[in-house]
Amino acid sequence: MSSPAPPVDTWLYPVGSGLYCEPGDFYVDPGRKVDRAVITHGHSDHARSGHGAVLATAETIAIMKVRYGEDCAGSFQALAFGETISINGVSVRLVPAGHILGSAQVVIEWAGRRAVVSGDYKRAADPTCAPFEVVQCDVFITEATFGLPVFRHEKAAHEAEKLLASLAAEPDRTHLVGAYNLGKCQRMIRVVRDTGYDKPIYLHGGVMALTDLYGKLGIDLGELHAVSESDPKSMRGSIVMCPPSALGDRWSRRFGDPVTAFASGWMRVRGRSRQMGIELPLVVSDHVDWPELIQTIIETEAEEVWVTHGREDALVHYLGSIGKKARALALVGYGEEAE
Ligand SMILES: [Zn+2]
Ligand SMILES: [Zn+2]
Repeated sequence: MSSPAPPVDTWLYPVGSGLYCEPGDFYVDPGRKVDRAVITHGHSDHARSGHGAVLATAETIAIMKVRYGEDCAGSFQALAFGETISINGVSVRLVPAGHILGSAQVVIEWAGRRAVVSGDYKRAADPTCAPFEVVQCDVFITEATFGLPVFRHEKAAHEAEKLLASLAAEPDRTHLVGAYNLGKCQRMIRVVRDTGYDKPIYLHGGVMALTDLYGKLGIDLGELHAVSESDPKSMRGSIVMCPPSALGDRWSRRFGDPVTAFASGWMRVRGRSRQMGIELPLVVSDHVDWPELIQTIIETEAEEVWVTHGREDALVHYLGSIGKKARALALVGYGEEAE
């Protein structure tokens, strides 16, 4: 990628509500309604309703329709991984981000320069979505949700084994597993299946619609039942998936004395699990941890790194110390959804 091209920040820049590509006249993951949006994935801090036109993967579009309704944008255009389109002369391509089903990095090329907007992403194995692909670029735009050296996630399979060991040790206690309702919940179910658990798994109403959608989109999650339609006796000693907020509320009392588990990258922080009264913390995240974050930045060979949200100060400081140009974009409204 040679030089007399205009620097990327003259044609791609933050405008408070997201990144704006001026020659293409589109936004990536805007925080307010815009005419033309490219959406990386279905989490609510990235995908909002009310845009004129949305470009995203077919899976992300399906997720948006389940969450916000069929008419949540004026029009939708699905772009498959690897397909390239031109928006007002700007080349746009989606590449897997490995974060949740349908999640994509947006590769934007104009005037001989390439920027990659990675959205949220991870490098760890996840059987519910396509794995992250490294794209070499001039500017790499990254999150830093877990951008501190202390954050190192466990392997999801290892945490699933911990859950099954606890079930074996306490077969009379229901295991309530709090997991974010888009991505984490479905990944945990799939990983528990891959670890050899084939009994029915029960679902809180708050995780049903998106778990159903994963099934429809071809992710086999085994035998699932709604808690509301199940006999309390049949759920004894089984796994029940619920949103994290349900762990501490009245709803959970129907299970007597359950083991409460929470699958989240934040479970690395002991104070958090203790404060939430979590008996079985499972350190599973859908975001990169510190070593993956640094590895990815180096592999992209980007000259410059822009940090959208999270621990941007720590990351920018570290990148400076290894001789990389880095800056915090301070985009507002990102990282609002629980992990
Ligand atoms: Zn996300
Ligand atoms: Zn996010």
